[in-house]
Amino acid sequence: MKFHQMDWQQRLATLAATTKLTASEQALFTTNYSAINEQMIENYVTSFPLPEGILPNIVINERTYQVPMVTEEPSVIAAASNGARMINMGGGLTATNVSREMIGQVLINEADFAAVTTLVAEQAPYLIEIGNAAHPSMAQRGGGLKHIATRDLGDGFVSVDLHIDTQAAMGANVVNTISEAVASYIKTQQVGNVVMAILSNLATTSLVTAKVALPFKAVAKAGFEAADIAQRIVLANQFSQRDAYRATTENKGVMNGIDAVVMASGNDWRAISAGIHAYAARDGQYRNLVTWSHDATTLYGEITVPMPVGVVGGSIGIVPLVQANHKLLAVESAGELAQVIAAVGLAQNLSALRALVTSGIQAGHMQLQLKSLALAVGATITEVPILVTRLQQMPHADMQTARQLLTEMREK
Ligand code: NDP
Repeated sequence: MKFHQMDWQQRLATLAATTKLTASEQALFTTNYSAINEQMIENYVTSFPLPEGILPNIVINERTYQVPMVTEEPSVIAAASNGARMINMGGGLTATNVSREMIGQVLINEADFAAVTTLVAEQAPYLIEIGNAAHPSMAQRGGGLKHIATRDLGDGFVSVDLHIDTQAAMGANVVNTISEAVASYIKTQQVGNVVMAILSNLATTSLVTAKVALPFKAVAKAGFEAADIAQRIVLANQFSQRDAYRATTENKGVMNGIDAVVMASGNDWRAISAGIHAYAARDGQYRNLVTWSHDATTLYGEITVPMPVGVVGGSIGIVPLVQANHKLLAVESAGELAQVIAAVGLAQNLSALRALVTSGIQAGHMQLQLKSLALAVGATITEVPILVTRLQQMPHADMQTARQLLTEMREK
C-alpha cells in the first residue's frame, strides 16, 4: 500500500517500523493528533504545535486591539509589545487600505500584444461575464472580476491581468477559478498560446498603509537622549534604503510581527511573505518596508505592504483556535485585519531599530534566548528559571556553559 493510501494509524505504524523513532517520540505523534487537521492535508501524521502569545493593547485608528501572535522565536512578542507601548504614547497608529483587489493572470506566449489588447478592449464586458459566471456567488456579494488590463512582457510574452474583488476572503481559489474560465475563452480567440492561468501573489492592488507620529520622548531610554535615539532610528533606516543586505534583515524583523499575526489569523503566510518581499524590490532594488523620518520634535514612521488576507475561507473557518483568535482580534473586515497586521510590523520595526541604535539587539534578545538555551540543554520547567539566573551571571552564555551549570545544579 502506498503511504498516501494508508490511514493515520497505518502511517504511524510504518514510521515506527522503518525509522528510529523511540516509543516516547511516537507518542508525540499520537498526543498531537487532530481529526480536523487530518482532513486538511495529505499524508497526515500529527499536528505541529507552536507557541501563541498576545500583543496587548495596540491602538490603531483609535481602537485598542489584543493581537494573537504565533511564533517560535523568543523576544518577538516582547519587542512588538514594546513597540506598541511607544506607539501608543503618540496616540497610536493610523492605518488605511489603499486598495483591495487580487490579480489573476492569464499568461500567453507567441502573442501579438496589440491583438490581445484589442481583444480585451473589445470584449471586456463578455470576459467579465465569463469570469463571474465561473464563481457567481462572489459577484452576487458585490465582488468578482471587475476589470482587465494587459501587460507586454516582451518577446511575445503577455499577461492578461484580471482584477478581482474577493471581498472578505484572500481569494486564491476564487481567483484561480475565474482566471481559468477566462483563459479557456481566450484560448479560442487565436491571439497566442495560452500557457496557464493563476493568481499573482504580488498583490499590488491589496496595499495597506500604517503610519505613526511619535514625540521624541516616546522612544526615550535611560542613559540616552530621546532626540538622539530618534535621529539614529532614521539613520539606521537609511542604510536599508541603500543596502539589500541590511534591508533584508530589517524586513526580517518586520516579518517577525507580520507572519506571527498572519499565522494566528489562519492566513497563508507563504503568500504574504512572497508578495511582501517582491514588493520590497519593486523598483529593482530590495529595500526596507518601513521608512522613518523626523523633524525638530517628532519621529514619523510609515509602512506600506501588500496584505491580501481574509477573514473567511481557507483554513479560517475550519480550525477552532483560528476562530477563537478572530474573536480576540475582533476585526470586522479583511481590510481591518490587514491594517492590524501592518501596524504590528511597524511596531516590531520600531522596537528593533531603537534597540539597535541604543544598547544593541543582544541586550534584550539574549535574556529571552537564555530560556531557550536552558530548554535546549534539557533543563526541566522548574530548573529553567534557576539556570537562566545562573547563565545571566556568566560572561558567556553558550551551550557548553549551560550544560555545565545544569550538571552542577543537579549534582547539588
Ligand atoms: P476559499 O477557497 O475557502 O474561498 C473563500 C470561501 O469563503 C468561499 O467558499 C466563499 O463562499 C466563502 N465566503 C463566505 N463569505 C464570504 C465573503 N463575505 N467574501 C468572500 N468569500 C466568502 O479560500 P480562498 O479563495 O480565499 O483561498 C485561500 C486559500 O487558498 C488559502 O488556503 C491559500 O493557502 C490557498 N491557496 C493559495 C495560493 C497562492 O497563494 N498562490 C494558490 C492556491 C491556493 P462562496 O463559495 O459562496 O463564494
